[in-house]
Amino acid sequence: SSVYAAPGEHGSVAEYRSRYGHYIGGEFVEPVKGQYFENITPVTGKPFCEVGRGTVEDIDRAVDVAWQAFASWKKTTPAERAVILNRIADRIEQNLEKIAVAETWENGKPVRETLAADIPLAVDHFRYFAGVLRAQEGSLSQIDEDTVAYHFHEPLGVVGQIIPWNFPILMATWKLAPALAAGNCVVLKPAEQTPASILFLFDLIGDLLPAGVVNIVNGFGIEAGAPLAQHRRIRKVAFTGETTTGRLIMQYASQNLIPVTLELGGKSANVFFDDVARERDDYYDKALEGFSFFALNQGEVCTCPSRALIQRSIYDAFLGDGLERVGRIVQGNPLDPATMIGAQASNDQLEKILSYIDIGKAGGAKLLTGGERVDLGGELSGGYYVAPTVFEGTNDMRIFQEEIFGPVVSVTSFADFDDAIGIANDTLYGLGAGVWSRSGDTAYRAGRAIEAGRVWTNTYHQYPAHAAFGGYKQSGIGRENHLKMLDHYQQTKNLLVSY
Ligand code: NAD
Repeated sequence: SSVYAAPGEHGSVAEYRSRYGHYIGGEFVEPVKGQYFENITPVTGKPFCEVGRGTVEDIDRAVDVAWQAFASWKKTTPAERAVILNRIADRIEQNLEKIAVAETWENGKPVRETLAADIPLAVDHFRYFAGVLRAQEGSLSQIDEDTVAYHFHEPLGVVGQIIPWNFPILMATWKLAPALAAGNCVVLKPAEQTPASILFLFDLIGDLLPAGVVNIVNGFGIEAGAPLAQHRRIRKVAFTGETTTGRLIMQYASQNLIPVTLELGGKSANVFFDDVARERDDYYDKALEGFSFFALNQGEVCTCPSRALIQRSIYDAFLGDGLERVGRIVQGNPLDPATMIGAQASNDQLEKILSYIDIGKAGGAKLLTGGERVDLGGELSGGYYVAPTVFEGTNDMRIFQEEIFGPVVSVTSFADFDDAIGIANDTLYGLGAGVWSRSGDTAYRAGRAIEAGRVWTNTYHQYPAHAAFGGYKQSGIGRENHLKMLDHYQQTKNLLVSY
């Protein structure tokens, strides 16, 4: 299939507005201070629309509107909310291509990913929470002859949500679907690097929700994010982003003593035991693909398998084949369905990655492939492209310990099972990990021994809505996805009644 026309070009399936205000009370409104900021596409490095630059005044307004909407939203039944969530899923599905192209244009990720993963997963997320909501029941227990205890699920009220730029629509969905299912109203602050795809989405789905149930205020972290997380009238703050920002969010939330969900950074180990290379078969091929997944989504994934641990006895052979596989990753225009790796989401991110490549070299790591910015020529010359990069080194180096958030993997070897687990766990983080072994016993034991909220065994990078996701250690607090997520957005009301 052919390259999609860029939004703004003749024949594009997706057109952005040239200017977006905040989405408050079911409509786009001017920022109180009247200020906007430029939104740049990483595909070409050029601006393509303007977005409202939110301040505390906009946050106040959105929180007010959300509380007004809550008065009737909280009275809706689970069945009514499930119908709405299913309609949202249907509408997104009907507009899949349009939304996928819009998301690709804003974030730089390949359209083959947004078409096959990001947007279909968002659809499924709404359907999943529509489903689990219907299955959630309260309880009644008898205390004594004359007394019963009822347990009800009640929404928290208005919740604040702050999200990053790496999966703009999917991260919004992970937060919105359970919050709405549980009956809350929301004020969401997208990342300043990718503010518009969520507004694009609400242009398409906004009419399906009562006005004010979801409100979106854009802007920068300090100007709009901090006033939201510190707001006296929100009942919870859910945050996805860097560990350093997560610490601040927890401090803000402590002022109002409200709960937090924090989904933070990672430095995931991808562990390859020697039996992986016993045969050159389909399984081996899948393991090599698993190795190459560090470049998926340009490495801008919190669970990016950014440390590869390969058992010493197969080290040279497996790494050689892995490098060959990396060489087959097609880098190009993100709007081309053949492209496997696109552009980094922002110029800042591009520079951060390049500086880590220097840090790797200066720290004594050996660069095996990549390690540079890529110029794709023509219109794409201004875009933010980095070659998939493989370093060899030791786990004490900065490139093994710090999150780079780019298509960079740091490879090292291990002697035996205990050595592998020791290296895998020698990190501040504990979000994801991968374990590859043909032995069920080894895979199981390693999966249990690694301190991470999600360990993929003999697979990597799958995100079904019904599998709990979240961090150990400094990767976060709480879980997302899974039916348990509803509990993060509900109070349990106990009514103890004597008859
Ligand atoms: P970031 O922390 O810089 O920004 C995230 C969001 O927080 C943005 O909307 C930003 O505007 C806002 N923000 C920044 N400072 C703030 C403040 N003081 N108060 C309130 N809000 C503030 O992170 P990022 O660079 O956008 O995202 C990348 C990070 O997100 C990586 O560390 C990655 O691992 C992590 N991430 C984690 C998960 C997960 O589920 N654990 C998923 C995706 C991304």
